[in-house]
Formats: sequence, C-alpha cells, structure tokens
Amino acid sequence: MDLSAVQARDNVWEMAQRQLDEVALLIGLNESLHGYLRVPKRVLEVSVPVRMDDGGFRMFTGYRVQHNMARGPGKGGIRFHPDVTLDEVKALAMWMTWKCALINIPFGGAKGGVICDPKHMSMQELENLTRRFTSEISIIIGPEKDIPAPDVYTTPKIMAWIMDTFSMQHGYSIPGVVTGKPVAIGGSLGRDKATARGCLYVVDEAMATLGKPVENARVAIQGFGNAGMYAAQLMAERGYRVVAVSDSHGGVANDKGLDVKQLIAHKFETGSVVGFTGGERADNRAILEYDCDVLVPAALEKVITRENAPRVRAQIVAEAANGPTMPEADDILFSRGIMVLPDILANAGGVTVSYFEWVQDLQANFWDEEEINEGLKRKMVRAFRETYEQARRHGVSMRKGAYCVAVSRVAEATKLRGLYP
Ligand code: GLU
Repeated sequence: MDLSAVQARDNVWEMAQRQLDEVALLIGLNESLHGYLRVPKRVLEVSVPVRMDDGGFRMFTGYRVQHNMARGPGKGGIRFHPDVTLDEVKALAMWMTWKCALINIPFGGAKGGVICDPKHMSMQELENLTRRFTSEISIIIGPEKDIPAPDVYTTPKIMAWIMDTFSMQHGYSIPGVVTGKPVAIGGSLGRDKATARGCLYVVDEAMATLGKPVENARVAIQGFGNAGMYAAQLMAERGYRVVAVSDSHGGVANDKGLDVKQLIAHKFETGSVVGFTGGERADNRAILEYDCDVLVPAALEKVITRENAPRVRAQIVAEAANGPTMPEADDILFSRGIMVLPDILANAGGVTVSYFEWVQDLQANFWDEEEINEGLKRKMVRAFRETYEQARRHGVSMRKGAYCVAVSRVAEATKLRGLYP
C-alpha cells in the first residue's frame, strides 16, 4: 500500500464519511441525499490574533464547521488542542449531527477548534484567545444558529468568556449562545458530569442486555479528563470496579480496584494519575488491552486500531471519546462478539444536558438536578434500545444500528424541508 493510501485510511474525516457510506448502503439511502449528508453545510476558518504575556501578539488558526442543520441549530463543542485540523473538526461536526439525531434533540451538528496548546498558555492568554476567537466566529453562532460547548481542553470558565464576549457585542446577556457554562451565569446543574453519567446509563443497559451483573464488573478507562474522570467516579459509586485508568502522561492499575476518590484527589493535586500510590504504573496504550469487562476510551480519536483490536479483552467498549475506534478495528471487534457502544450513543449525555441547559436559558427557568438526571436517563435508555433494535434487525454492530436511526432521522428532515430556492 502506498503512503497516500495509508494516510487516507488514517484520515479521521474519511473515517467519518466511510461510517456514513456503510450505513447509506444498509438503509438504501437515496444517492443525492447521501451526497448531501457526506459534506459539511458550512466551514469557517479564522485567523485569531492574540495578545501574549510578553507584550507581543501571535496568530492562531481556528475553525467552526456546521455539518447539517435540518433538524435545528448547530450544536457542538470547541476543542483547544495542538493537533486540531480542519478535517478533524469536520468529522467531529458530522458526528454531532448523528449524535443529536440519535438522542432525538432538535439540533444539527457543528464543531469548533483552535490549534493551540492550552497547557502552555497563561490564563490571560487563554482568555484573550477565547474572546477573539468568539468574536471571529460570532458571524455564524447564536442561540438560534449554532451553540458551542466544551470539548477537549475547554472548560466552563472558557464558556463563560464566550458567553460574555458574545453578550457584550450585542449589548445584553445572551446565555443561550453557549452551553457548559458555570451554573452562576445560566449553566445547568448536572452538565459537568453529564457525559459520564450518560455513558454509565448505557453501559448499565448493555450489561443488563448481556445478562452481566454490574457489581464488581471490571472497568478500564483511557483518558482522565471531564468524561473519563467522572466516569470513573460514577461507575465506582454504582458498584463497578475501576481497575485501570490513564491520562496523557501514563496510567495506573490495580486488579483489586483503584480508590477512585483518592485517585481524583491525586489528579487534582499533581495534574496526572501517574504517581498514584494505590496502584501500579501502567502504559497508556496498555490500558486498552487491559483485562476487564468494560473498556472506556475517553480521550482522543483513533486509539483502537486494527493492530490492537485483536487484543482488546473487554466485552463492552463504551466510547466516551469521539471517534476512538477506526473502521477496520470496528469490524474486528464486531467479529469477536465485543459490543461497542458507539460515541454518538455513549457520549451523548453531554450534549443532552447541553440541550436542557439551552432550553432553561431560553425559558429563564431552571430545573433541579434530579429532574435533569431523570430526563437524561430517559433519553439515553431510549436511544440505547432503538440502537439495539436496529442492530438486531440488520444483524450489524451497535454503531451501524445507531447510524441507521440517526441518519434516517436527518435524511427525513432534510427531505421534508426540500431544497431552497
Ligand atoms: N463536546 C461534546 C460532544 O462531543 C459536547 C457537545 C455539546 O454539549 O454541545 O458531544
């Protein structure tokens, strides 16, 4: 295979398109509609000048991509990461379209990203970057148009700056322009843990479906950010045994179960799970092949490949990250009888509570946490069942089952609206 073919295979945007192509065939999607859904509706690239602490300024590149808005305004996070590319943002935007459709909330799919290394920027530089990026993309975002949210390395504090910048430009507070905000300025209770909680709900459903008890089921988690850390906490509270976790610095493992509370305290203290004394040091990649019942990839894309897929030992893979499994790996896991709960299902809890946040902001009427978690559970369980039903009916993986539901909904909305003009 020549190099360009290898690169094409590894390109995350082509991976997203290929996932769609496979399901288009399965559901007999009309060719024109398929072509329509294969490309983003709108792509914005911006150059962002940022005043740095040394008094000078530096240019950064950022993107906002809107994939499809037939079912409602665009929705999706903003990622700050040195490896952001336009192709990655396009893939993430397309996945948001399917995610919102699967969970059945009235949003289309969008995503944003800035190529930067927030770990090596001061708070002031980060604020300057966020505000100017917001200003540059403000021509296409808004509560009725496209609503950003947190993603990799973006936080509630950053969402507050987005909300403030957009509001100052308009002259009044517009909390509904962004979700994942601090509760004090119109954020929602439960949003911080929503991705992890949604993941827990669908893992619980999968365990029940497979007839496996939750108590002491062994869990390995790759990634210890917002999704991975809270997944560890909530799953431990629920009775699962968290045996291995990792972050970008490395991992720790303990077959008897890690003390998750202490581990989180260690992470807050030192910035990493590495060095935690309640377990042995483990390699970041080895976590994916760890002996466990449930594997939760909760970091970045393309970590389960055709090389390591044959060595995955979990019976359930719950994708808290977006795009962690490559298509060839997907086929291997399916043929090995491993149930993959796809990203558009397993991590949809975040955008679901983002939807609740947006509704609360628009109504200026805020709900209690119990109500939010109940609403989240209802939507996650329903999406799991619809996915499972489609997967069974077609004899395909849960990913394809989920795509059947999601793509059909988006195709129907797109068709009903017709072409303008
Ligand atoms: N970034 C998250 C995701 O990938 C959340 C998006 C949102 O809440 O809009 O689903």
